Amino acid sequence: MQPSLRIRNVAADNAGAWDLYERARARIRAGEDIVMLTVGDHDWTTPEPIIAEMALSARAGNTGYPDLRGTPELRAAIAARIARETGVPTGPDQVQVTTGGQGALFAAAMATLDPGDRALILAPYYATYPDTVRAASGLPTILDTRSEDGFEPRPAALAEAAAGCRMMLVNSPHNPTGAVYGPASMQAIADVATGQDLWVVSDEVYATQVHDGRHLSPRALPGMADRTLVVGSLSKAQAMTGFRIGWLVGLEAVMARVADLGIATTYGVPGFIQDAALWALTEGAALEAETRAVYARRRQVALAALAGARGLRVLPPRAGMYVFLDIRATGLSGRDFALRLLEEEAIAVMPGESFGRAAAGHVRVALTVAEERLDAALRRLAALAGRLADGGAR
Ligand code: PLP
Repeated sequence: MQPSLRIRNVAADNAGAWDLYERARARIRAGEDIVMLTVGDHDWTTPEPIIAEMALSARAGNTGYPDLRGTPELRAAIAARIARETGVPTGPDQVQVTTGGQGALFAAAMATLDPGDRALILAPYYATYPDTVRAASGLPTILDTRSEDGFEPRPAALAEAAAGCRMMLVNSPHNPTGAVYGPASMQAIADVATGQDLWVVSDEVYATQVHDGRHLSPRALPGMADRTLVVGSLSKAQAMTGFRIGWLVGLEAVMARVADLGIATTYGVPGFIQDAALWALTEGAALEAETRAVYARRRQVALAALAGARGLRVLPPRAGMYVFLDIRATGLSGRDFALRLLEEEAIAVMPGESFGRAAAGHVRVALTVAEERLDAALRRLAALAGRLADGGAR
């Protein structure tokens, strides 16, 4: 018996994307000391008050089937946050609580695409986007953006690529590049969406981690509130990756349909997790600021360690928890550079190719180790790039 074509296709074009990560993990399991700068997971556990709130809720008996849409209190807190971030009045009935930002991305794809519909994805992209579109029986259409444009889309190219698409996935602040789209890019996105009648799924999971500039949401632009679905999460903001809690925000009528998906999939997010999230959103501002500050400091350490390096160009991230490096001057692909780095220096980074063709010849460094270790690792990375640029001399 064959499984369905749909499920066979989900990860059709990402073979090898996680290869380097798996290799590094295997070596750690074998006892080696590898500096892991691969995936965007924090190197500390969730703050204690959030864990305490979760335990309190569970011990108080909140262990039964949860509220499928999310508790009214949590949805109200999320609505208030999104209203603040987007400037658009938002009510609890416009919110669906999801299993992380990824659950919201899947729900958004299911809500906006019929089988065979095209979804526009700007590359480089967060690695799950094409899989998510295919899981919803949609077809990914990839538009490459360029390193020299700071990986923001050119309006004419955007309009051309959007022709025939039903939805556009936008991610600002951006993973992997750390770009924060400015008003011109956001306006171009809004013009294309309104002009060509597209849904916009706006992935804003890094909205609380802007180090330079200001986060803008496409939902805030005229004519966009009714056609934008905002994806959010506490994974990055509050070091809650393992809690799997996020949200999707949009038109009330759409969210009522999205709630139906919960019946067919997760049957809701556990109530004690929802209570922990409510605490994080209503009482956790100082913790959120501390998480942002950790990455802001590590970003500075990384930029200092890489300053003046030969063989690589640093794209200073304006947001998030990564630094994106153009290593084309070494003559290697992102994957081959990452392999050499793992072999010679015991440092693991993500090859750019994992984020689409537009990121070939780049690598992404996650800022997920403490400052001193990060500094030492990046100085060794810079030295390798320098040696390679000099023709491989050691
Ligand atoms: N969107 C982007 C751009 C991400 O980088 C990630 C996680 O790395 C997610 C969504 C998914 O986050 P979550 O853990 O909330 O599912």
